[in-house]
Amino acid sequence: MKIALIAHDKMKNEMINLAKEYREILNQNTLYATGTTGALIIANTGLQVNLLKSGPLGGDQQVGSMIADNLLDLVIFLRDPLTSQPHEPDISALLRLCDVTKTPLATNLSSAKIMLHYLEDINKKEN
Ligand code: PGA
Repeated sequence: MKIALIAHDKMKNEMINLAKEYREILNQNTLYATGTTGALIIANTGLQVNLLKSGPLGGDQQVGSMIADNLLDLVIFLRDPLTSQPHEPDISALLRLCDVTKTPLATNLSSAKIMLHYLEDINKKEN
């Protein structure tokens, strides 16, 4: 599966810990991430991640474009709900496109874990 990983600055530690905890299952999928999030995941887990631009510099729009083209199967976007973001329009567009295309989207740690557990389960059934 093709998975996009994005985390706002205050959520980056959560994303790193999530990537460490689910490293094995993530490693069996093709990963994409916005620039800073992806660089941190690579540095902390050694996972292979296709890096897009940093979110505020167009990375969220790149992810949105991939969603519009049905190139992603799952999006984990750990959003900071308490800090306003300069690129809010890009974020809203990305979230909207997930709904338009019915792409599974997790916007917090709990829903992200449920998604990754599901991936583990279907992976076990396939093997
Ligand atoms: P970043 O972008 O991974 O480059 O920090 C995330 C975002 O703020 O959308």
